[in-house]
Formats: sequence, structure tokens, C-alpha cells
Amino acid sequence: MTSSLHLNGRRGVQLLQDPLTNKGTAFTAAERDALGLRGLLPPRVFTPDQQLLRVYDSYKRKPDPLEKYIYLSSLQERNETLFYRLVLAHLEEMMPIIYTPTVGLACQKYAHIWRRPRGLYVSAQDHGRVKEILQNWPNPDVRIIVVTDGERILGLGDLGANGMGIPVGKLSLYTACAGVPPEQCLPVMLDVGTDNQALREDPLYLGLQQPRLRGAAFDALVDEFVQGVQVMFPRACIQFEDFGNSNAFRLLHKYQDRVCTFNDDIQGTAGVTLAGLLSSQRLTGTALPDQRFLFLGAGEAGIGIGHLICTALTAAGVPLDVARRQCWFVDSKGLVVRSRKDLVEHKLAFAHDEAPARTLLEAVERVKPTALIGVSGMPQTFDEPVVRAMARLNARPVVFALSNPTSQAECTAEQAYAWSDGRAVFASGSPFAPVTLNGKTHVPGQGNNSYIFPGVGLGVAAGEATRVTDEMFYVAARTLADLVTDADLAVGRIYPDLSRIREVSAAIGVAVADLAFRRGLARMARPADLGAYVRSTMFEPEYRAYV
Ligand code: NAD
Repeated sequence: MTSSLHLNGRRGVQLLQDPLTNKGTAFTAAERDALGLRGLLPPRVFTPDQQLLRVYDSYKRKPDPLEKYIYLSSLQERNETLFYRLVLAHLEEMMPIIYTPTVGLACQKYAHIWRRPRGLYVSAQDHGRVKEILQNWPNPDVRIIVVTDGERILGLGDLGANGMGIPVGKLSLYTACAGVPPEQCLPVMLDVGTDNQALREDPLYLGLQQPRLRGAAFDALVDEFVQGVQVMFPRACIQFEDFGNSNAFRLLHKYQDRVCTFNDDIQGTAGVTLAGLLSSQRLTGTALPDQRFLFLGAGEAGIGIGHLICTALTAAGVPLDVARRQCWFVDSKGLVVRSRKDLVEHKLAFAHDEAPARTLLEAVERVKPTALIGVSGMPQTFDEPVVRAMARLNARPVVFALSNPTSQAECTAEQAYAWSDGRAVFASGSPFAPVTLNGKTHVPGQGNNSYIFPGVGLGVAAGEATRVTDEMFYVAARTLADLVTDADLAVGRIYPDLSRIREVSAAIGVAVADLAFRRGLARMARPADLGAYVRSTMFEPEYRAYV
């Protein structure tokens, strides 16, 4: 589908200034005559492919990732169709620019590289008039909102209002990877202040220069926002992103059964990791119910994955209490066990009756896991003795070092393969290059959330779902795992090639929409051909003909 936006009588320079209608030099001669554009553009008409050559050439001439990020942002601000055409033509190259790791750097410098506003800012000063702010957004048909309060941006901590780069980047991925139309996407910064003193003192900082709102005042603002969205954008799904640990779990539990919402850090990560575990079964020959999972890190990612593994296990007939006992956690204080008095709420479901273990190695020897999953943010914690122990306990040890960026990974791909004599089934959060060991090349999998959340969002938006359920992430994970080919597995790759992302997202979108219909969560009549319908809602970066 091309952009559904109509010109609504707009002409001339207005069309050039709106990134959703602008075609730049690709406006045809007939359009230039009919729309009052003649003379506002240089005379030669270019094809979209010729435009692509120009923008890619400009992109390549930018000297570093941050300059490339700035270039892409300004292209997005002037011509969204061309921006997505460029990104899709070079997705693997540009994903690390529009999202992690470069987006993290961009957020750190956001106030300094800022050109023009994108998205909505709802601040602590707006309590009582949030609906008015939402009303100022020009498109009432919003389907996906990504909202952050900037408290825990990637692994970079509290970046306050600078965190706006995250919703902006994430929504670009919804459109690029799954074709959610750009005009249906709304990035939101919930500016509740920042506890980052250096930012507050930065003379160029764009946000409120005050300490973070906490407690009841914070909850009231979030609630006003969530309720306002129900009124102003009733078909929108709210994705919470990069909130601090305790708020993230709390807000998810508060809202997930009441409105259409999810948290990608918790549930999206869980989906992509479960998919990796499901496809790993084809390499290890060990079914999920016969496995034990040991996590290093019991935060949003780890606990989210633990719960989704339980969803998968219960779907396979394993009782919930047994399923939970298959998931073990080590946090900064050691093995998470019932006798510990320092455990926060979200860890309790996985605190088992067991003696404490202080080190990861001790925990590995005790739990005898089939899979070791690193979500601690602590680099080099899967050291040689730990990986060797996994390799002694398992013919094909599953080792996922998911902490980002690359420098924070629990171990490198090369270490995992070398210390397991090439037997590890390895995946990471950030990309690692293939490793050749004793003449065999191993291709590490990248557990990139972009395999999951865009497709889930597509399915939720297309089916106008009222809720986002854990079962949807389970179905998304299964769909993703099913798309892994034997050729992928032959080189050890447990995710499909990223170049297939549109196909992957479409398949997940159809599966999620189908589930929404089957569970009575869809707000529309089921189309006769659901697959064709979901695919027909996908934005393609093609210019529409105006005359
Ligand atoms: P978080 O802050 O919510 O959780 C981190 C957890 O690690 C906490 O439980 C903390 O106690 C624990 N921890 C800290 N130091 C430790 C140590 N020395 N030993 C053991 N545990 C320790 O963060 P999160 O959102 O759960 O993310 C954790 C990591 O996972 C990050 O590095 C992030 O980049 C990565 N992640 C990867 C993906 C992906 O690959 N798709 C997705 C999300 C998060």
C-alpha cells in the first residue's frame, strides 16, 4: 500500500514541506503543472531509483555513524518515502545507524544535534491537559505509539528528554521492517524530569531541568496519558520502551489487561529469545520440556524471557510450577533462591528452594543447564570455565550472550565456539562476524528484537486488537522459528537472515492477527483472506500518483 494521505487541497510549497507528500525531484511534469510546483523544483525529473543513488552517495560520504544518523534523520524529515526506500535497500547496513548502537550515541547528544521536533512531548508540567496535547497531533488514525520516559535508555541509563531518539528510531523500524504506515506511528516522550545532573546542567538540554517525578505524581501523569490515548487514538497500541526497571514491570502489570499495550524490553526480548530456543531444538535434539535454562541477569529481559518460556512450556502440557522450576536465575548477588531476603517482586516467581550459590560457575554445576542466557549487561562473565562446564554437561550447549552493545556481551562468538570445541549453539544481542574454527564456519545468530516487535505491531494494528497478550509473543516466536531454514541451521544460524525481515514480519503479523480473531480480541470482522488483508495494510515506499 502507498501512503493513504490525501492532499486535501494542498498545493505547491506545502507539498514539498510535508515529508509524507514530498517527492522532491520525482514530481512528474503533469504534477508540477497541476499542483503549482513548476519553478519550485529544478527542471529535470528524476526517477525514484535515481534519487536513491543520490541519497546513498550522500550517506556514504558521511564520515562517522553519528553523521550518518543525522543525515538519515534529515532525509526522513523531508521525504519519508525516499528515506524508507533507502533504508530498505540497505537494511543491514543502516539498522545499526537508525537503531542500536548509533541511536544510543545520538540520544546522548540529542540536544546538540537536534534540528526540528518529531513526535509529541508530554511533560510533568502538562498534568491536567494531556488530552489537549494529544489533540494537537495532526493524524487521528494512530495505530502504534512508542513512549519512553528516558530513564533507562539502552544500556546508557537516565537520558531524560534526550531519550526521544528511541521512540523515533523504534517506529522507523516498525515501518521499515513491517510496513506499518509512517503516518500511523506516534513517538512520545513523557518528560518527567531527569536525575542525570550533567544533563540538567547542559545549557542546550531540551527537557525539564528538574529531578524525576516519582510515586503518585508519576503514576497520575502516566495514567492521564494512557486514558487520553484511549479517547483520542482508540485504535492505538501503546508500546512502553526504556522505562526504569521497577516502573516497567509495574506499568505492564497495571495496564496489560486493561488497554492495548506491551513492553518490548520485557516481552519483545522474550519473543526473540524464545524463537532462538525453539530453533535451537533442531540442532540440540532436546525438546523444550526436557531443558533447563540458567539466566545471568534477572531484570526486564531475563524475567520476561523466563515467563514466556513458561507460556511455551505450559502450551506443551507442562504444569506452570514445573515450568518455572526449569528456569533459574543468577543476579548480582548470586543464585536467586527462596531463602534470599533481598529479592524484588519480579524475581519471586523464579526463586526456588535451593541452597545459595555465589558464582555463576557454581550455579552452572548445580543447575546443570542445557541453555545459558546472558542478560546481565556484564561483559566477559561467560568465561572459559563457565563455557567449558556447559560443554562438558551438554553435547550441544546453548549459549546466548545477549547483552548489548557488543562490548558488553557476556562472551564473544569466537570464545563460545572455541571453548566448546565448536559445539555451542550461540546467539548474541549485537551482531558478531562468522567464526571459522578447524575449517568449519559458524554463523552466530543475532537475537535482534526487530525480528519480533514490528510483526506483532503489524498484526495488532491490522486486526485492531484490543489487547496484546503473552500468547501473541509465543505465536510470534513460533512463527519466527519456523522460518529458519535447514541451510541456516547447517551453519549454526538460529534466526533467518535479516534480509528476509519483511517476509518474517508479514508472517508474524498474520499469525498475531489470526490469534486476535480466534481469541475475540479483534475489533473488526475477520477478512475472508486474512493473509492478503494483513499484507495489504503494509506500507511500501512507493510514491503515489497525484494526477
Ligand atoms: P535490567 O537492568 O532490567 O537487568 C539487568 C539484570 O542484570 C539485573 O537483574 C541485575 O541485577 C543483573 N546484574 C547486574 N550485574 C550483574 C552481575 N555482575 N551478575 C549477574 N547479574 C547481574 O536490564 P535488561 O533490560 O534486563 O537488559 C539486560 C541486558 O540485556 C542489557 O545488556 C541489554 O542490552 C540486553 N538485552 C538484549 C536484548 C536482545 O538481545 N534482543 C534485548 C533486551 C535487552
